[in-house]
Formats: sequence, C-alpha cells, structure tokens
Amino acid sequence: MSEPYVIKMPQLSDTMTEGVVVSWEKNIGDKIERGDIVATVETDKAIMDVEVFREGYLSGPVSEVDSTIPVGGAMAYIVASAEEVQKEGAAPVAVSEETPVEPAQEESASTAAPAPAPVSAEPEGAVNTIKMPQLSDTMTEGIVVEWTKSLGDKIERGDVVAQVETDKAIMDVEVFREGYLSGPMTEIDSVVPVGFAMAYLVEKEDQVVKEGAVVQSGGAPSSSSTEEVASSGSATSHQIQPAGSSTPAARPNNKYATPLARKIAGQSGVDLNAVQGNGPAGVIVASDVMGSSASAAAGATMLEAPVPGNGRAMNAMEKAISRSMSSSLSMPTFNVTVNAVPTALIKASKKKGVSVTVSIAKACGLAMLKHPTMNWCYQPTDKLVERSNVDIGMAVSADGGGLVVPVLRGCESNSLEAMNDEWKELLGRARSRRLKPDEYANPTFMVSNMGMLGVSYFDAIPTPGTAAILAIAAAGTEGMPMTITADHRVVNGAEVALYLNTLKGLIEQPETWMGPTGPAVPEGDWDYDAIIIGGGPGGEDCARDLAAHGMKVAMVNDSPYPGGECLWRGCIPSKAWRAAADKIRDRAHDEHLGVEGTTKAKLNWNKLEKTRKHVLETRGDMALKTDKGVKIKVIQGFARFESDHTLFVDQSGNNDNPHQRAPNGDRSKGEKLSFGCAVIATGAPPFVPPIPGAHDGLTDGAVLTSDTVWGLESVPKRIGVIGGGAIGMEMAQIFQDFGSKVLLLEGQERILAEVEPEIAKHLTAVLNDDPNLTIQTSASVKSIKGKAGAVKLIYTSDDGKDHTFSCDHVIMATGKRPVLEPLQLDKAGIESENGMIKADIRSRTNVPHIFAVGDVIGGLMLAHTAGQQGRVAAATILGEDMTYDQDKDSGVIFTRPEAAFVGLSMDQAKSKGIDAAEVKMPMSIDAKAMITNETHGMIKMVVDKKSHRVVGVHYLADHADTLIGEGVMIVSGDMTLEQVAHAIHPHPTQTEMFGEMARRLLSRLRRSKKK
Ligand SMILES: Cc1cc2nc3c(=O)[nH]c(=O)nc-3n(C[C@H](O)[C@H](O)[C@H](O)COP(=O)(O)OP(=O)(O)OC[C@H]3O[C@@H](n4cnc5c(N)ncnc54)[C@H](O)[C@@H]3O)c2cc1C
Repeated sequence: MSEPYVIKMPQLSDTMTEGVVVSWEKNIGDKIERGDIVATVETDKAIMDVEVFREGYLSGPVSEVDSTIPVGGAMAYIVASAEEVQKEGAAPVAVSEETPVEPAQEESASTAAPAPAPVSAEPEGAVNTIKMPQLSDTMTEGIVVEWTKSLGDKIERGDVVAQVETDKAIMDVEVFREGYLSGPMTEIDSVVPVGFAMAYLVEKEDQVVKEGAVVQSGGAPSSSSTEEVASSGSATSHQIQPAGSSTPAARPNNKYATPLARKIAGQSGVDLNAVQGNGPAGVIVASDVMGSSASAAAGATMLEAPVPGNGRAMNAMEKAISRSMSSSLSMPTFNVTVNAVPTALIKASKKKGVSVTVSIAKACGLAMLKHPTMNWCYQPTDKLVERSNVDIGMAVSADGGGLVVPVLRGCESNSLEAMNDEWKELLGRARSRRLKPDEYANPTFMVSNMGMLGVSYFDAIPTPGTAAILAIAAAGTEGMPMTITADHRVVNGAEVALYLNTLKGLIEQPETWMGPTGPAVPEGDWDYDAIIIGGGPGGEDCARDLAAHGMKVAMVNDSPYPGGECLWRGCIPSKAWRAAADKIRDRAHDEHLGVEGTTKAKLNWNKLEKTRKHVLETRGDMALKTDKGVKIKVIQGFARFESDHTLFVDQSGNNDNPHQRAPNGDRSKGEKLSFGCAVIATGAPPFVPPIPGAHDGLTDGAVLTSDTVWGLESVPKRIGVIGGGAIGMEMAQIFQDFGSKVLLLEGQERILAEVEPEIAKHLTAVLNDDPNLTIQTSASVKSIKGKAGAVKLIYTSDDGKDHTFSCDHVIMATGKRPVLEPLQLDKAGIESENGMIKADIRSRTNVPHIFAVGDVIGGLMLAHTAGQQGRVAAATILGEDMTYDQDKDSGVIFTRPEAAFVGLSMDQAKSKGIDAAEVKMPMSIDAKAMITNETHGMIKMVVDKKSHRVVGVHYLADHADTLIGEGVMIVSGDMTLEQVAHAIHPHPTQTEMFGEMARRLLSRLRRSKKK
C-alpha cells in the first residue's frame, strides 16, 4: 500500500489563509485523472476550483461541505487502488499537519516550571491589604511614586494613602477601610503588579509593623483565580521584565489565560489583554498567544542587537507606548497627504479665543460626519466597529518627557467653545500626567501636531482601536501638510483623500462652521460702514438692524419711498384687492346663517383703489420717517458698483411717483460713495418669457405684469392669466371674485410648485369650482395678439387641441428674475449663478464684505424671506452668529381657501433622509369651519418618526394666514408631537386641530411600534 496523497486546501490567492468547502465535484471512490476538479472552495475573494494532479481514487475522510479548512489542511485523500478507498466519516474540520496543543500539555508545561510558592507577609491584626489597584483598562502594574500617609497613621475611609504611576498617568490610591497603616510597605519607585500588596491596614496601633520596607511576594493578589499566582519571586518589588523574560505575563482583565499562555506571553512580551481567547469559555491558550498578531509584533521574533551597556527598564509610560506601537506594526497602513492653508483658521481661532489645536479637532470631527468610516476601527478577528461619536486623542508632551494622549470627546457635536474649555482642563493635567482613565481611554481618531515644533513633514503611527492618525506639519510655501496614516482594513485611499479634502475646505474656510469671527466691516475710511442697495423688505430690515447697533448706514433706493415691490406692487396692494374680494365672497356665503340681503355685493373700483393707494402711501411715508428717525441715511437713486468698496448713485432717473418702478437714469447726475460693507437687496422684477406677442403687448397694456396691473382703470370683463404660481393664482381668483371671466394657463402639470402636492391638487379643484375661473394645467401658450380690450390668447391644451381665449388683458405671471447687469457686479468681483447673486446661509457673497439678500438671490421670493435674510446679513456684519434656514421658512398663498406651508413636505423630509410620518385632518370635521361653511381643505403635519419633531405643517384652509402662526412656532421651535399634544388649545378654535393631530399620530406611532 503506497502512502495516500493528501488533497490539501490550496492557497488560491496571496491573501488566502483558509477556505470554505462549497461542493465536492467527485464522489468517494471515483477514479481521478490528472487535472480533474474535485471540489470548489470559497476563498476570501471568490469561489474557485480545486484541481488535482495525481491519478488515483478519491478517498475519505473528506471534509464536510461548509467546513472551513486552513490553507495546507487536508480536505481528502487520493489512494492508488479502489480497494484502499476509505469511505467512512468526514474529516474533522481542522485537519492539520501540526499536532494541536492539548490543554493537558499546557498544564504540564506549567507544572514543569512552577512559580515560587507565595510567602505571606501579612502582619498580625491585618484588616485590609492595600493592593495595587487597576486604574486603567490596560494597566498591569504601577510604580509607587509617593506615600501620602506614614506607617502608623490612622486611616479613615476614603483617604488617599499613596500615588502610583500607571501606564497613562499618576493617580491616587484610596482605601475604603479604617485602620492603621502598617508595613511591610513597598518602596517608592518600586514596580508592583496590579493586585499585589503595597501595604496593610491593621486594627490596632500597636500592631503596626514599621520595619521591613518591602512586601514579600506573598502579598499576592487574591486567590480567587484558579491559576497560581506568578511573581518574580524576589523579595523586593516586581521588576520590569524585558521581552524574553521567563516571568509569566500579568493576567488579562476580565478573562482567563492558561499558565502556559501567560508564560509564553511573558517570554514574548505580549499583552494578554490584546489577545483573543479561543480555549474553552474563551480562555486564552498558548496557541492564541503564539498566533496573536501582538506576539508577532511585540518581540517574540525581535532580535536583541548586541549593544554596549545593560539598558534600563522602561517606565510604565514608555512600556505602554512601546507595546501599543509594536501592536500597530500588524496594521496594514498607507499614507495620504493633502496641503491646506491654515491662515484663516489661525485668525478665526485667535478672534474666537480658542486654541488652533481645538479648532483642528473640531474640523476633524465635522469632516468625520461626512466620511464616517474614518472613525471606525478594526477589531480582531475580522470585525469593524462603527462609531458615531468622534473622540479625538491629541498627543501632548508630558513634563519630564513622554507622550500623553488626552481625548477630546464629542468633536462632531460639542460646541467649539465647550471643547476649548475642556481642552484647557485636560491639557494642564495631561502635562503633569494626572489624567483620569476616562480622559485618555478609547479615542476614535488621533491627531499629532508637530507643526508647532517646526517639523516640515512627518507621518504618525495609528494605534489599535483607531483607523487613522492625522499628522500636522508646519505650513510652508505650499501650505500645511496634513498626512493621514490609515488602516487599509477599515478605509481605502479614496476615502482618506476625500476626508482630507473636506478637512482642507473646513480649515481654509472656517467661517462656514465657526460663524463670523467679528464685525465684517474692514478697517478703512469709508463714507459709510455699510451701504444697503434697495429699500424693500430685505434692504430695509437690514439697514434698521445695522443702524440700531450704531453703524453708519446709508440705504440707496431708486424710489422716493422705501417698501420695495412688497409695498408698492406686491404683497400689500394685492392683499388690499384680496380684502375687497373676500368681502364680496363672504357676503355671498352668509345666507346659510340666516343673514340675507347681502349676496349681491357690488364693487366700487375707484373707492377700492383710493383705499389701496392711501394704505400704500401712508405706510410708505411711515417707513421713510422711521428709517430717517433711526438714523439711516436714505438716498434716492440707482446704485452701481465701481469697485469692491465704491459705488455710484445715479440720481438722474429720480421722480416722485412711488407706485411705478423707477425709470433708468442716464448717469448725468449722482454721487460716488465708499463703503466698508455693502448689502445688495435689489429684488427681482417680473420676467416675461419670449412668447410671440408678449413683449409687444407690454407697451400698449394688452399684456400686464405685477408691475403694471395696478394701472387698471376698471375691472376687466375677461382676463387671461399665464402662470400658476402664487402671483398668478392670487390674481386669477381676485378678478374672478370681482366678476371677471378668468382663464389661467399653467405649462406644468400642477400649480404652485412650492406648495405641498396634495394641497396644490385640492386647491386646483376648489378654484375650478369657482363659476368664472378655469385653470388649465399642461397648457402651452402659442401667442398673444391684439390690443388692450381685444386680446386673443392662443394656446394648446393638454389634449393637443388649439384654443383661443378672447379677453381684455393678459397678465403675465411667469415668475420674477433679478436684473443684474446694471449693477456692474463684475467691478466688485461679485459672482452670480443662473442669473442670481450667489449668497450663503449667512447672506455672504463670494466677496467677504459684500452681502446679498431677498429676491436677488433666488430661492423663496417672499417678503418675510427677504426680511429674514436682511437681518441675517446685519447680524453677520455685526459679527453675530445667525443663519437663514430654508427648511423652516413659510409662505401663504392668498386664495380662498388659502394654501400655506411651513417647513418640509413628506417628499422633502424623505429626500433629507428623515424617516417621516404624516397626519392630516380635513377642515370639514372642524366645528368652526362647519358653522362658517368654510369646510374646504385640510391641515397636515409632517413628523420625524425618530425624534417626534414636527418638521412641516401644510394648510389648505380659510384663515390659514392666521393658523400658520402656530405651525411656524412649532417648526421653528423644533417642537415634538408630545409638546404639541400637551399644549392646551382654547375651545372652540381651529388651533385645537394641532393638538388633535399630534395625539392621533402619537397613538399611531405607538401602535405601529408594538407590532
Ligand atoms: C403681486 C405680488 C404679490 C406678492 N405677495 C406677496 C405676499 O403676499 N407675501 C410675500 O411674502 N411676498 C409677496 N410677494 C413677493 C414680495 O413682494 C417680494 O418677495 C419682496 O418684495 C422681495 O423683497 P426684496 O427686498 O428682495 O426686493 P424688493 O421688494 O423688490 O425691493 C428692492 C428695491 O430695490 C430697488 N432697486 C433695485 N435696484 C436698485 C439699485 N441698483 N439701486 C437702488 N435701488 C434699487 C427696487 O426698485 C426696489 O424698491 C408678492 C409679489 C408680487 C409681485
């Protein structure tokens, strides 16, 4: 009988260490030819074939399908003849060429080299042994630094009796028994393993042992362990053993190791805390130590180079660093470097009074929110630990040498100021090595800043438990090199590069996350600290806030009165018309309440217009007086930039009529002004698309816009409205209520793009029920022909048919667009995008001292949005931290019923990653709505299921302009369902619906959670 051939698990990739048997392609007893595939195995990369290059018969024992076989381990056999085939039984999974170490052998190894028997030194009357406490999770021994009590002293519970140096810091040893301090006592500077006796407490003073300033090894840890206590056996304290010592390693924390494992660990300098136990109940056995990466790295294979001198034992801190660094050698790391210019960060940190190191830590934490894998770590064996808290360890030189790494926690969420306070605290104690364990344990990321020491480039070594370390070198001509050394098991090169680029952005533009670092007005001899261009809601609110803070402010507006479009051509005049339309509508709805004789209301156009103009002019005059009163220099004229600190105010086009948009001037008259800061709040006039006939129609009044509709001398009989946005919808219904026959055409499938879809859909249906109003969506306007009073609006409807609507006028409500060209933005270097000035959430343009707010920057073109952005600009100029948050902005469409919104719709919430739920109530079930017969519509609340925060409220309801107030407070105040549900709403009011909806949704969420 010839030797059977062993089919071994082949190494099918350079990284493969084991394979899983997926299938056997041949059966036991089958004849095998050279090159036959006998099995398939799953490697770390793919499922691959196992070929054999021997002839013979497949013989058992074969390893089972799904079993894991180490590379080189036997899978099956090939025998020479059919008779030799062995059929029975599957091979044990771990068939190996090597003989496994049996626990029994370990025990015998342990008894072969027994540790010296402990000798008790406990004095008579001892009530307590003061043992070396374990003061950190990695501490195995401590050095006695100082005895703070003397032998014979009376000790009370909680007294600190000594100070010891651990691997991390110098810490107190407290006792929790009463008694008298007694010897034998360990000497200062001696190294005592954790759990070993340092001294004793005796009951009576006369029992105190004063002589013998040492503890014999008998003062050993408690015998609760089944293992024998190993000690150096020397009479004095335990000495630090270099790698290769025969002293067993200290027992690991919260787990067990066999004596042989400890012996081998002692010899190879392995920290058993870093070893995973694979013995029964997780006990660490010898093979665990031998196979541990720590062992390979920690000196089992380390050569001792013959150098003169005996060397000194490392102190605890040196040893801890040495072990940690040795363990790091098993990490497959790589380096990536990106340079950043830190000037802005240094300046911003100085202004904020925070340390640059802390600012860098904060920037690292913020970048981690975008690239969370950088904050994970690898854990043996083959586990990834995902973490959301960013706790950054930052290396600090301890006084007297050595490195300490205090950990700044919550860098992703804590405020910069709080982090700075904490860092100051930590730094002092870190330098004197008096950190507490939770102040240095378990960082998730590390930063080493040697730039402070003038180092031009370096990289650092990450420690186990982290995936990466950032090395910051000194800034040179190319910027400050930031090098990340990262563990390739956790992150790849692209992830690190992206992280570093995000970090670079945060370091170079700290204002994006640190907020303004002081007033934005640059030093200089300016005519005005700030010039505001435009006197609408955006400009006026900004100017007033700045003036209220004592700034020298000018507001340049091309109209004789402030108020902008909102007052003269927008919100206020349209609401004056709406008020009249409401009255007409309400009269017709009184009958069901028994109020008769009011249904045929008649509009006196001239009276309405007189009232409208009176309100506008009164408010314009009031605003001008207030502006002047608060010391804003109001200048009439059209402003254009001449440089980034000067502008020309063209006063040649000035006139006294505030109702019309000011005409262009010819620059023949005006003044040049210089400014520290400028705020552009010039609004956006109506946009008329190139529909054939539309522009021609503007000249004779056949075609009107929101600028010119106010010149109507009577209510037209028939009106065409193009555009289903807020202005078009409001105008269309106002004129229908005034008695006009109205056709509204919208190109899109739906009206009111900014309004929640269900609300918009319902509103379309309700408005289409109005007798004189028709809304056509998906319509395409072909042309506008004719003169005012005889206009033909030619369009194609959604079914492809052409139609002509005859009317007196067409109102173009086709959106608003800023007109930027006359502002000469290029002279100041101000950037625009898609026809809007680019501004951030702090209203800043790309030029640091120039701001832009309101309609001119796009987004929601609403008066309160402009006002808020104006206040944000003022705050930023003043150096305050304020931002505009569109997710909390609101709007009302003044139709009947009114559509309104605040915050996010379901779709918007979902697109932001919020797991949202919605609750809605129809107005038809509300008592007040039933009484007044205003039952159209609904109120909806959108809620974050996780936090229960209400993120949006949407309305289709009469009086939504009032009800929106509660929604605004709920959303802007980040209120939860519970808070809304518990609020006491007065009865009978429609505000009760909010509490009702909140309670209903809470109940639904509770029930669905239970399932
Ligand atoms: C019919 C209609 C109804 C509306 N209804 C509402 C509503 O109900 N609720 C709501 O929130 N919003 C409503 N709006 C929108 C609202 O009017 C605007 O969003 C708001 O006025 C924008 O404010 P603003 O400060 O950005 O610009 P504007 O109000 O347009 O003010 C800009 C001012 O700057 C002047 N100006 C422009 N260029 C220069 C220059 N170079 N130099 C000097 N001065 C200059 C302009 O003439 C104007 O006076 C409505 C708009 C219209 C047309």
